[in-house]
Amino acid sequence: MPDKYVRDWRNWLAPAAIAGTLIVALLLAFLLVIVLEAMGDKANEIDDSRAASAAHTAVLSLRRRLSGTLEDNAVWQEAFEAMKAETRKEWIRTNWGSISADYQLYDGLAVTDSEGRLIDAYLKGVEFDAVSALGPDFVKQAIAAATPDKPPIINVFRLNGSIAMVGSRALQPHRNMPPGGRFDVLTMFRLATPSMIDSVASDYFLPNLHLTAVKPASELSVPLIGSNGQPVAYLAWPGRNLGTRLYDEVRPALTGALIVFGILLATAVFAGYAELLALRRLASAADREATHDPLSGLLNRNGMIRALQAHLGSAVGRGGVTLHLIDLDGFKAVNDTWGHLVGDELIGEVAARLVACHPELQFAARFGGDEFALASRPCCDPSEVADAALQALKEPFVVAGHTSEIGASIGYASHAPNVDAFELIRRADMALYGAKEAGRGQSLAYTSDMDRDREALAELEEQMRLMLDSDGLAVAFQPVVSAANGAVVGVEALARWTAPEGPISPDVFIPLAEKSGLIFKLGQIVLERSIGFAKAQPGIDIAVNVSPTQLCAPDFAEALAATLERESFDPRRLILEVTEGVLFDSPTQARRAIDALRAIGIRFALDDFGTGYASIGTLSHFTFDRLKLDRSLVQALESEKGRAVLSATVSLADALDIPVIVEGVETAEQAGYLRQVGCQFMQGYYFGRPVPAEAFDSLPRQMARAG
Ligand code: C2E
Ligand code: CA
Ligand code: CA
Repeated sequence: MPDKYVRDWRNWLAPAAIAGTLIVALLLAFLLVIVLEAMGDKANEIDDSRAASAAHTAVLSLRRRLSGTLEDNAVWQEAFEAMKAETRKEWIRTNWGSISADYQLYDGLAVTDSEGRLIDAYLKGVEFDAVSALGPDFVKQAIAAATPDKPPIINVFRLNGSIAMVGSRALQPHRNMPPGGRFDVLTMFRLATPSMIDSVASDYFLPNLHLTAVKPASELSVPLIGSNGQPVAYLAWPGRNLGTRLYDEVRPALTGALIVFGILLATAVFAGYAELLALRRLASAADREATHDPLSGLLNRNGMIRALQAHLGSAVGRGGVTLHLIDLDGFKAVNDTWGHLVGDELIGEVAARLVACHPELQFAARFGGDEFALASRPCCDPSEVADAALQALKEPFVVAGHTSEIGASIGYASHAPNVDAFELIRRADMALYGAKEAGRGQSLAYTSDMDRDREALAELEEQMRLMLDSDGLAVAFQPVVSAANGAVVGVEALARWTAPEGPISPDVFIPLAEKSGLIFKLGQIVLERSIGFAKAQPGIDIAVNVSPTQLCAPDFAEALAATLERESFDPRRLILEVTEGVLFDSPTQARRAIDALRAIGIRFALDDFGTGYASIGTLSHFTFDRLKLDRSLVQALESEKGRAVLSATVSLADALDIPVIVEGVETAEQAGYLRQVGCQFMQGYYFGRPVPAEAFDSLPRQMARAG
């Protein structure tokens, strides 16, 4: 049976916020990693391009240095002149060749004539054949350099397995330049030796700089260009990957920071989520507490009203709903006899049976001690649901080893136009009231007559109030005679009300007086009249009816004792008649009042015995001085069975040592039979109808009929 209420979108706000925070945080962490990686790459790039330009600069400066050396030696008056002499080879050896053995500015040289023919050449101080060592490209370069106004021509060559920078320049005088001619050419070599490369590496901060013949794939390099415009070799060095190294260096810290961040975030999210769950739990617990009965787990009154409103207001509920109000019988007695623990368990059992009693229930509720409610769908016959519920509760309950039988009364009302939850409850309640009136174990549907009856009763109640105030209540007295000799031994006082429209039966106005609280005033009037009557009739007992409401009122015993005291009336002449219902419903209060009043000499009669459930148990729990057999037992005397029941009942009373009064004796036969089975006292129209006090005196003291 669904009793959930629609959750609204606000419930999703907090989870969405948590998810949003989580996503943003993850995005930020991701971006941080990306940015750091990009920074590393950029740093790599910057460092690589710096290194490349340093390498270019290094090559350029080597060229410049060679060019400067060449300029110094080729534009030289003395050398120019010496080349014209026979001794030119001697000059070349002394001034250049021998020096080249160990000189830091050049490692070798060659002198060629203007046609490129070799005059002489030295490498590391040793004469060598430069043309065959360097090849035809060298000759081309030398020829090209033969004109004096050309700047030095410098190219890279392979020389004896190593790499050399080779620069050529026309040998020319400082001054008196001969016009338009071609000159001898001085070519100088600078070998790329490991020590030279090392010094470049350290000067230009290019660690691990080296020469390679082919362009390396995994290293950075600059080409060294030969005279044909093609690379002869490469200056290569490994990239430092500064950015990567930097990144690698910060990575542990970054990873640590991210982990800490992650833990913080997870903690925050977890804490937030836990808090959220706790809040939700609290809220739903509070909601549950506000709408549910903790004992039975069903809806409470509040929850029922909300559920009813939801059903009546919603589209599904438009078809209507039938509300059944259920009032348990005898639950109070179980509580009082076996204690609250058993009572609580019983409530749980009752709830379980009700919930399962019919398949078309929408919800069940419990409010008040022993009141339940069921709501059934409009599709099913409400009387069927009520019967199912009554049937379910009829089976005996076995709780904590005790078997108890519980009945119920049910009133139900169905949804109709313009009927809201409260009106529906009121109507069902009205029907329940009617069902209870009709006796235990009944169900009743609400009808609009009930409202009318209710109004009529309200009117009657008002009339009774006026009647009591205006001293309109009369009391009639009916004799009680001894079965043995027919002597009048007592009277029963009976309230009488004659309204302008005619007499109203006590069966109508007594229950109304009980419900409205007027019974206290009525009871007091009857008591006072009875005392007045009894004072005028010495020697007989006076029996007065006491309703449960009166008996259970906390000050009943005290007030009664005070009245007797005030009237100086002997309590031993007073018999109070009580019905068994009160013994079940309020055993504690009943016992308190009965004990207190018996202590001052007042006697008690159990009225209407034989109509209800009063058992030997009840009779031995409470002490009674009289047992009044109901007149239905007398009416049943016609049958064999009825006679058997009556004689058995009298025997029972005998065994308990309680004198019996039989009510409703209307015929001589009845009286004869009753006397025969051993009844001690009789009362009924046969002996005398209830009459006003004035009429009583005319009755004979000794009932001839009894004789
Ligand atoms: P009850 O206490 O059982 O009273 C006996 C009822 O049986 C009386 O009805 C009486 O008139 C009627 N009765 C007596 N003899 C016969 C008979 O031979 N045949 C028939 N058919 N009936 C007989 P009544 O006066 O209508 O009272 C009805 C009930 O109202 C009483 O039943 C009692 O429970 C209640 N009642 C009457 N007066 C008072 C009162 O002052 N206080 C309280 N609390 N209840 C009262
Ligand atoms: Ca009575
Ligand atoms: Ca009676």
